[in-house]
Amino acid sequence: MKFATKTIHAGISPDPGTGAIMTPIFQTSTYAQEKVGEHKGYEYSRTHNPTRTALQNNLAALENGKHGLCFASGLAATDAVIKTLDPGDEVLSTNDLYGGTYRIFTKVFQKYGLQFKFVGMSDAESLMPYITEKTKLIWIETPTNPMMHIIDIRSITQMARERNIKVVVDNTFATPYLQRPLDLGADMVMHSVTKYLGGHSDVVMGALILNNDDWAEQLTFLQNATGAVPGPQDCFLVLRGIKTLHLRMQRHCENGAAVAKFLAEHSRVDKVYWPGFEDHPNHEVAKQQMDNFGGMISFTLKGDDVDEAMAVMNTFKYFTIAESLGGVESLCGHPATMTHSSIPPEERRKSGLLDSLIRLSVGIEDIDDLIQDLDQALA
Ligand SMILES: *Cc1c(COP(=O)(O)O)cnc(C)c1O
Repeated sequence: MKFATKTIHAGISPDPGTGAIMTPIFQTSTYAQEKVGEHKGYEYSRTHNPTRTALQNNLAALENGKHGLCFASGLAATDAVIKTLDPGDEVLSTNDLYGGTYRIFTKVFQKYGLQFKFVGMSDAESLMPYITEKTKLIWIETPTNPMMHIIDIRSITQMARERNIKVVVDNTFATPYLQRPLDLGADMVMHSVTKYLGGHSDVVMGALILNNDDWAEQLTFLQNATGAVPGPQDCFLVLRGIKTLHLRMQRHCENGAAVAKFLAEHSRVDKVYWPGFEDHPNHEVAKQQMDNFGGMISFTLKGDDVDEAMAVMNTFKYFTIAESLGGVESLCGHPATMTHSSIPPEERRKSGLLDSLIRLSVGIEDIDDLIQDLDQALA
């Protein structure tokens, strides 16, 4: 089955009871047993729910994986992954990481004896100095947020496999439409379903997709034992959102490319961070592992004046100031004061995250309106 067919059909079949084409919202906590212990595979909705099952199977198919598991948020999914490690284990992660992932690693799990190292990652070579016998997991996010670095998934997974280290890729920014990490050798894909997969800014959810049966069994155990599961209504909304994932992503990419090019030519704009540019430092890797470059773009202003950046953002008509990304509507954020404010200014600037950096999640509106909005705000 090709991708655009999978978004609509994979894991989904008409309801056997009624023939309903759309997976019903099974708004039930429990299921009648015909005799004691005799049931149809569903006992209690923390463990299994048919709406969630359909979504889990659909997500697994999109990432070319065997097992899919949904959680109450992206961070709840990450939480489950880290709980499969043991005290003393070490995790290597990128230093340009989603802030909430950094927070759960350092503020929640470090005290249980797990070690986290945050390093600049471009390929396997850049990781070698940090690998020890205790390294059990490498946590990759690519493209990174907000600097749009690209990490070479294939090179890192090859090196990790030789050392029995597992690799998880946070595929939130790219989505399986643009990048399928399991095909590149990764052991697991993590998603904040909240973003492009849900796609309509109306759900918070997370997911894990993997092939390894033992690890999947451990995670299924944790999903039930710790209970951070999404409800059936949210699963329905995501199933509905995913049916147009390929169409939305196509437009996000088209609009993203047009916005990136417009910004690059604007006299007030200094740097534009978007992996589609040929002079982006990781453009070749991006071309190899991604099918297109997405709708996430960051840029700085000449002079790097924070007040000017604020003024630009406050003047946008269609780019709404908000956390989050990946919805049909265009959003803008100011990483230095919003998502990345907890990182000390010196550290921030070292990684290029200047005070005037603005991050755009380019939506699927008419491109003429978006360009006009950027033009009037920058004026
Ligand atoms: C939003 C986000 C998360 C966290 O997901 P939630 O659904 O908000 O818990 C993790 N990684 C990335 C890249 C994100 O954008």
